[in-house]
Amino acid sequence: MNRVIIIGGGIGGAATALALSRAGFEPVVYERTKGLREVGAGIALWANATHILNNLGLLEEAKQVGYLTTNYQFNSQHGKELVNVAINGFELPVIGIHRAELHQLLWRKVPSENLILGEIFERFERKNNQVHAYFASGMSVEGDALIGADGLRSRVRAAILGDEPPTYRNFKTWRGLTNHVPSGYHPGYIQEFLGCGKGFGFMMLGKGKMYWYAAATAIEAQSDAAMGRKKELETMYQDWFSSIPELITATDEANILTTDLYDRPPIQPWSQQNITLVGDAAHPMLPAMGQGACTALEDAYVVAKCLKEQPDPIAAFQQYESLRSPRTQAIVKQSLQSGKMGELKNPLAVGLRNTFMKVMGSAISDSFKSLHAYRA
Ligand SMILES: Cc1cc2nc3c(=O)[nH]c(=O)nc-3n(C[C@H](O)[C@H](O)[C@H](O)COP(=O)(O)OP(=O)(O)OC[C@H]3O[C@@H](n4cnc5c(N)ncnc54)[C@H](O)[C@@H]3O)c2cc1C
Repeated sequence: MNRVIIIGGGIGGAATALALSRAGFEPVVYERTKGLREVGAGIALWANATHILNNLGLLEEAKQVGYLTTNYQFNSQHGKELVNVAINGFELPVIGIHRAELHQLLWRKVPSENLILGEIFERFERKNNQVHAYFASGMSVEGDALIGADGLRSRVRAAILGDEPPTYRNFKTWRGLTNHVPSGYHPGYIQEFLGCGKGFGFMMLGKGKMYWYAAATAIEAQSDAAMGRKKELETMYQDWFSSIPELITATDEANILTTDLYDRPPIQPWSQQNITLVGDAAHPMLPAMGQGACTALEDAYVVAKCLKEQPDPIAAFQQYESLRSPRTQAIVKQSLQSGKMGELKNPLAVGLRNTFMKVMGSAISDSFKSLHAYRA
């Protein structure tokens, strides 16, 4: 057992390739895009994810290109603090990082011959314990095992589990990047603001970049307002905490991305013999807990560890899934519940939610801490 085919070169595929090559395997990643790219947005790497970077020998470099984050603060839309979670109490730091920086950090350590760009995976066949993967270009390759790291609309998942579409969760998001640091920013903080059916958050990344995100209830595939997405956001958040309109105004319209939010109900098994899934292909989740990419890093590390311990990929993938399924199922559910809290539109319900958050502050802190305390 040596040659592992990985479909998809996002954060999950890159981390899996790195973890496998460090464990002595020959992974080859097939990525459909012609160049490696990540969206212009940030990400928080909580202690459970910086633990993986530490194990892969990347933590010091991540600290250099990222920003050390200490607190996760929830506020009302006008900036009244509801909960303040200290997130720097672990042996490992929390890092705010640009997604492209994280992606490059992972890829820089993977030998270039292990990445094939511009190949769209279509299907597989099993012949004598080997997996044959077929691509749109007509190319086919053979491996001892195949790992689908091909994201929310994974073709590998569709081939082994059926082609159900992901579930739209009634939220549209906007993500922006700017060099402007707003006057109300607390250094080291991730600051989130919760209102009626919408929310806003911002945090510092490395190299002086501020990353912000907004979410609001919306119908699926809702297009930008005629006034354009920047003006629409300025209108939506005009009377919120002053840093919010300040950040929107300081951001170039070209640096504002929109994404609809989907997940899938947890399912098991997600492996079939010598084929398995990692990251969003296995357990896509709403971004409410900020754990999608973090759990993809955990998956990558654990799947490589299992393959190293068990020469038979079928047994290794069963072990991997039994280790990963309980944790990821719980986070998918928690992310959905937390997303639903943001759906509240009635001012009375929003007032009750905010009071609940204030009263339950220490329970909320404990729940984040136990999520981040996990060491894969
Ligand atoms: C608004 C928003 C905010 C988020 N914020 C956070 C956060 O703060 N923290 C966090 O941890 N997570 C966050 N996430 C989640 C995170 O982005 C994902 O969980 C993570 O990117 C999943 O990585 P992946 O490698 O599994 O999938 P992807 O990043 O989707 O990568 C899949 C790759 O597979 C390739 N591919 C797809 N199909 C094929 C094919 N047929 N053949 C070949 N290649 C293929 C794609 O081109 C892509 O490169 C957020 C998500 C959203 C939408």
